Amino acid sequence: MNVLVLNSGSSSLKFQIIQTDLELIASNADRRLASGLIERIGSESIITLKAEEKPALKKTAPIRNHRMAIDHIVKWINNKESGIAGVQSLRDIHAVGHRIVHGGEKFTHSTLLDESIVRDIQDCIDLAPLHNPANLKGIYAIHEIFGDSIPQAAVFDTAFHHTMPDHAYLYAIPYAMYRRHKVRRYGFHGTSHRYVAYRYRLMNNLQKKDVNVISLHLGNGCSICAIQNGVSVDTSMGMTPLEGLVMGTRSGDLDAAVLQFLTLKEGFSLAEVESILNKQSGLLGISGLTNDMREIIEEAKENDDRRAKLAISIFVYRVRKYIGSYLSVLKNPAAIIFTGGIGENSDYVRSLICKDMHFLGVKADEDKNKALNGNAGDFATDSSKLGLWVIPTNEELLIARDTVRCVARQELP
Ligand code: AMP
Repeated sequence: MNVLVLNSGSSSLKFQIIQTDLELIASNADRRLASGLIERIGSESIITLKAEEKPALKKTAPIRNHRMAIDHIVKWINNKESGIAGVQSLRDIHAVGHRIVHGGEKFTHSTLLDESIVRDIQDCIDLAPLHNPANLKGIYAIHEIFGDSIPQAAVFDTAFHHTMPDHAYLYAIPYAMYRRHKVRRYGFHGTSHRYVAYRYRLMNNLQKKDVNVISLHLGNGCSICAIQNGVSVDTSMGMTPLEGLVMGTRSGDLDAAVLQFLTLKEGFSLAEVESILNKQSGLLGISGLTNDMREIIEEAKENDDRRAKLAISIFVYRVRKYIGSYLSVLKNPAAIIFTGGIGENSDYVRSLICKDMHFLGVKADEDKNKALNGNAGDFATDSSKLGLWVIPTNEELLIARDTVRCVARQELP
């Protein structure tokens, strides 16, 4: 079965075509056939399309909306010259899996889409006004093209965290706010945390119930997850992806009183302050340079830039604080897993995070650490009590696999 995986953002559309089915999942033999990205939808868009084994095609074209973006991808799929292995036309796409950011309390697992499920996803817009409308655009566009002729599944960023206990997901505000409006921690990056916990389990030959780890997704968005007996028991992102760790452009944790203070002092509206916290804060806000960790490290090392160094310190410090608190939450933690663009590729940041944690049983082997960038493996010393794993994430693969399971009406993990 070839699954088209769509990750539809407000002005971008990422996709992959993945060949997978129940047998391929069992033998871990599923494979990516193609991938691509359409950026800056609504203006002169940048389009990248890549069939595996072929060089990427890059071009620009005016793409007005998500429907036009999907039309563009469909045209590429239908073109035999594209060279997608085993895919000659749209008929060779058998299902579509959509990444949906917010599933509220309703969605605890991935699910096949039908009209009532789409309505339920629409109901979650209140909780994720920036994300769910964009995700829905992908669903509408696919429906316009395929009608009901192809099964579609929704895979939620929040679903993995539905196992959090109430003392972890409730905020200490009047309980009526939860009852009336469902204000609570939901957590995100669930597909990524779930995937790396699953890979860790396979690589260590463990049963799901024996997986007790801290998973650190450090990319442009960052979150940390405490996993006990294979399920999420706490995570740093909250009702929205703004809470928790310092991110590329998001502040993470801060005193809620700062919002009102800034409206008074700077004359901003509340919406403007929220936008600053989401889009102009984090690494970008502190460094004043960029949200890109690679560039910040370069500035810090080569130009000794004070604010770049500060951005790295604040980023690392926040991660260390959360590791400490999650080690006290888990009963018998066995490892810390690093994933996401920074977690997978920066031995420098990993080393800073693990520094001087010997008293917690965390000891990094720096040679092993340096050798791991981009690969999966453990960089803890032999005497470290905790494993220190790098595991590259693959959210698209998990979305494709869940889509197959939904289509086969299999129980979802
Ligand atoms: P993601 O959102 O997972 O794609 O991660 C993007 C982030 O990973 C950006 O901040 C990149 O600068 C960062 N990143 C990627 N490669 C490296 C690297 N080798 N060293 C440091 N940061 C990196």
